[in-house]
Amino acid sequence: MTRQEAIWHANHVFNLVIERCINAQNLKDAREFDEAKQIVIEALEQEPKRGYWLEAKEEDPCWYRCSECGRLYDLDENYCPNCGARMEGNEE
Ligand SMILES: [Zn+2]
Repeated sequence: MTRQEAIWHANHVFNLVIERCINAQNLKDAREFDEAKQIVIEALEQEPKRGYWLEAKEEDPCWYRCSECGRLYDLDENYCPNCGARMEGNEE
């Protein structure tokens, strides 16, 4: 799924739920779902952070440090599990 498709789906589902709340005259829930929709759409529209794994051999031979948030991990993943940065040079 592309980012644009994800945004479309999130919009669609939130609008359905908001419409049902309004039809049921539950305006408090409608407002809360509308706020949640803004947060989700905003997060989806953001460009992912880019980073890279730094070897942290001085600490442990199989640990890597995220260049963005500095957290140590023993796995060389495509994304940092802590800050979500997409790691360069790890395309498979
Ligand atoms: Zn990170």
